[in-house]
Amino acid sequence: MPTIFTRILTGEIPGEFVFRAPRWIGLCDISPSAPGHCLLVPVAEADHLHELPLETLAELGPHLARLTAAVRVATGCQALNVIINDGRAAGQEVPHVHLHVIPRWAEDGKTCGLFGGSRATATTLSAMGTQLRAAWGQP
Ligand code: 5GP
Repeated sequence: MPTIFTRILTGEIPGEFVFRAPRWIGLCDISPSAPGHCLLVPVAEADHLHELPLETLAELGPHLARLTAAVRVATGCQALNVIINDGRAAGQEVPHVHLHVIPRWAEDGKTCGLFGGSRATATTLSAMGTQLRAAWGQP
């Protein structure tokens, strides 16, 4: 069954597009966290970022940079959060990769609850670094 974003892409249900390109689209979020909150969505359906085709991933950076610039100009925001909930346990509700681009202002009262963890010990960081480098080396 097609995802909600595919149904928007095919015109089955309406969507407010910022841009449409062969591999990516920019869409206004239907329930914006702030005015101008956009979603960057690949045309290819995949649940997780690492499952996208390489040619799609190769175009992510340029589209993301251009969309963040457009949101800055259109909203006059002071900053942005770029967020990807990459899996259900991370809060992903729509099982089709998407990046949130959310305009921010210094006094907007929002917080990024994910940050502000407690300081790790050198031993813990070193052990995690070893695991991550080993995983990085895997195809
Ligand atoms: P997630 O929690 O999966 O990271 O975020 C899903 C986002 O998709 C939410 O911010 C939600 O408002 C947005 N969304 C869900 N359904 C629709 C829809 O039909 N149209 C649009 N434009 N956005 C949607």
